[in-house]
Amino acid sequence: MSYAQRNERTISSPAVVDGFGYWTGRDVRVEFRPAPPGTGLVFVRCDLTPNVRIPALVENRVEVPRRTVLRRGSASVEMVEHVLAALAGMQIDNCEVHVNQSELPGIDGSSLKFVEALDAAGIVVQPALRAQLIVREITRLGDDDCWIEARPNRTAELTIRFRVDYGNSGIGKQTLQLPICPNTFRRDLSAARTFMLKEEADWLLAQGLGKRATLADLLVFDDAGPIDNTLRFRDECARHKILDLVGDLALCGCDVIGQIAAHRSGHKLNADMVRILLQEGEKVAGRRKSA
Ligand SMILES: [Zn+2]
Repeated sequence: MSYAQRNERTISSPAVVDGFGYWTGRDVRVEFRPAPPGTGLVFVRCDLTPNVRIPALVENRVEVPRRTVLRRGSASVEMVEHVLAALAGMQIDNCEVHVNQSELPGIDGSSLKFVEALDAAGIVVQPALRAQLIVREITRLGDDDCWIEARPNRTAELTIRFRVDYGNSGIGKQTLQLPICPNTFRRDLSAARTFMLKEEADWLLAQGLGKRATLADLLVFDDAGPIDNTLRFRDECARHKILDLVGDLALCGCDVIGQIAAHRSGHKLNADMVRILLQEGEKVAGRRKSA
């Protein structure tokens, strides 16, 4: 069974998002630029001479706690997950992401600002068919406590179900399943923020995360619920975990067609699944189409 391939897409004009990095506290400018068919998503460190291009592919991912880091040679880009989620969620396949620092802006911990900027830039449908990675078998990784599973899908879609389980804390248990497309990403996922427990937040702030970020910038929970903050969705945590997974799956470099279910999974396990899918899934190449 084959699935119809959609056309590749890029943005019609550049889009800029300014902010500062949570970890470094440094100002950073992100400029999304249109790119030709077949380019993929490529970060460009434009502050380095010569500029260094870092394709957003799992082979360039290095394991660092609590954030997604891509590296090529000695150049890296950090905290890329919410930018990748925005691009993948909006099905923007070809884009150069120019940055003038190693750490991308944290903003409000969601993908909302990036999606708004990309929407304002506009979308161009390109004369090329998007490559696919089709899940043909059930693949499961992790342990009883924390796992991720991929299954074939009946439709030409990526569907994600995520279960968050923080026991009796203010986060509690949340489950959500969604088909992933630009409409659902924009409406149901893009505004969902990074979250953490009070103990984690205290530890991170002590590590220097709070150079400029404060508790008000972060969605922090104690046993009673969010501290000095209002939820954007009742199940905002499950939504953010799906957003993260969309960003992690972008490191496949093509569309994933399948059903992904995850229980308390994180960036590392998600990236392990990407590697397995690239080995075991069925690849359908991208193709140029005559206009
Ligand atoms: Zn995240």
